[in-house]
Amino acid sequence: MRFSRALTGNAGSRGLTGPGRGLKLVRTVMGMSQNSQNGSNRLVLLLPFLLLLLVAPSVLGAEQNRLVFIHATVIDATGAPAQPDVTVLITGDRITGMGPSADLQPPTNAVVVDATGKFLIPGLWDMHVHWYEQDYLPLFIANGVTGIRIMWGMPLHHEWRKEIESGSLLGPRMLIASAIVDGPKPFWPGSITAGNAAEGRQAVLEARQAGADFIKVYSLLPREAYFAIADEAKKQGIPFEGHVPIAVSAGEASAAGQKSIEHLTGILPACSSRKDHLLKSAQEALATVLTTADEPASIIPRTRHLGQVALETYSPLRAEALFAEFKTNHTWQCPTLTVLHNITFIDDPSLARDSRLKYMSRDIRSSWDPARDFRFQNRTSEDIALGKKVYQKELELVGAMQRAGVDILAGTDTGNPYCLPGFGLHDELGLLVQAGLTPMQALQAATLNPARFMGREKDLGTIEPGKLADLVLLDANPLADIANTRKIDAVVYGGRLYSRAALDGMLARVETFAK
Ligand SMILES: [Zn+2]
Repeated sequence: MRFSRALTGNAGSRGLTGPGRGLKLVRTVMGMSQNSQNGSNRLVLLLPFLLLLLVAPSVLGAEQNRLVFIHATVIDATGAPAQPDVTVLITGDRITGMGPSADLQPPTNAVVVDATGKFLIPGLWDMHVHWYEQDYLPLFIANGVTGIRIMWGMPLHHEWRKEIESGSLLGPRMLIASAIVDGPKPFWPGSITAGNAAEGRQAVLEARQAGADFIKVYSLLPREAYFAIADEAKKQGIPFEGHVPIAVSAGEASAAGQKSIEHLTGILPACSSRKDHLLKSAQEALATVLTTADEPASIIPRTRHLGQVALETYSPLRAEALFAEFKTNHTWQCPTLTVLHNITFIDDPSLARDSRLKYMSRDIRSSWDPARDFRFQNRTSEDIALGKKVYQKELELVGAMQRAGVDILAGTDTGNPYCLPGFGLHDELGLLVQAGLTPMQALQAATLNPARFMGREKDLGTIEPGKLADLVLLDANPLADIANTRKIDAVVYGGRLYSRAALDGMLARVETFAK
């Protein structure tokens, strides 16, 4: 089952479904003068047009796809202050003009949206996503998430991307990882495994052949395999991103050219005055896992106590030095505070009472029950208390990194417990602000920064003429309160307008699947 554009808020539905809650369509008729006095003639003239819209929206798209927002307050995400009373002109899938509404007259053949009292921001990206169910992809669009980075790429993601690009499937733009590349005893079954340098190089070639946009490295990679991956990835011109393996320090990963570090892996121990001791202990724990019959997951209890040492020996000076290395080496951070929060507070019953869970299937909901997740087994109350202290420290680290000029990406780890597709990104923005980012910096972590990270500033990330028209129209100012990014009045994706009514339609359909 998939959403066809004919059913959900495509360009055609501007004329066919009513304007959404609070969304005023001033002029909904393509190429028709507003001053036309003869209503019935107009309808007769329109009829073939409407029929065409019903049967072939994509064919018509190019001809009639002119969309104008008037009187919008634009938060362009360049860092400039909000600009009131702006007209934004969209032609096809691009932003083609912008200026004060007093100066810029919309063309006659455009759909005009009166955005008085509303705020226009760029489309949002969730830079850490695991998702495998096609029916739920519209949840991203319905939440203004117009792009995602898939962190365990599979052939189905490449299929989705093709279908999304061709317009036959509604879903976000995608950057797609390789399969997870992990050590010879991988944490997750199905990973590509690399136990030595030769296998590390082979994994890079394999991932590249499979069409991956980047190599996803993981926690249990031995050092030799990891550094061979780093070297081969450089030779092949493909980035590597992911966890800092526990046998490697965050500084080493940064120096080796790892493009992004996920979940703050390796950072707290690297900020310790006993960092060498912590690294050596972690390496010994990995060696034990690799040389005994122990399960790979036994690495968790084997290394948990190191968190306590790292907390007690935290050195602001070491942290400062590490963050300077990240800055120099252009090492991005995707802290995924949403998953760190949810895992820390997994026993809090309010997580399972989240009303947004109605959009998740029974299977997914039950897989999020901590009692069924091996990662949360055998924890003592001391472990849980330690986890909370580590989480608090990690929030501090994120704020400190932003202040030190380290580049930050908003990502949720959607697919993990209570990290919801689409909705989760708004949780992440709130947590980033809690960590000390300004609302503008948090917005940039989901807009401008992903575009810079991907080298796609020409197309994405801000509201400027020439860029792809991926936009979110909000009912309230996100710079006053970042929670206002949840108050979505409309989404523009690739130049197509999805009114609140269309977005509600997407949500309602997903809710039906999820039942
Ligand atoms: Zn992940």
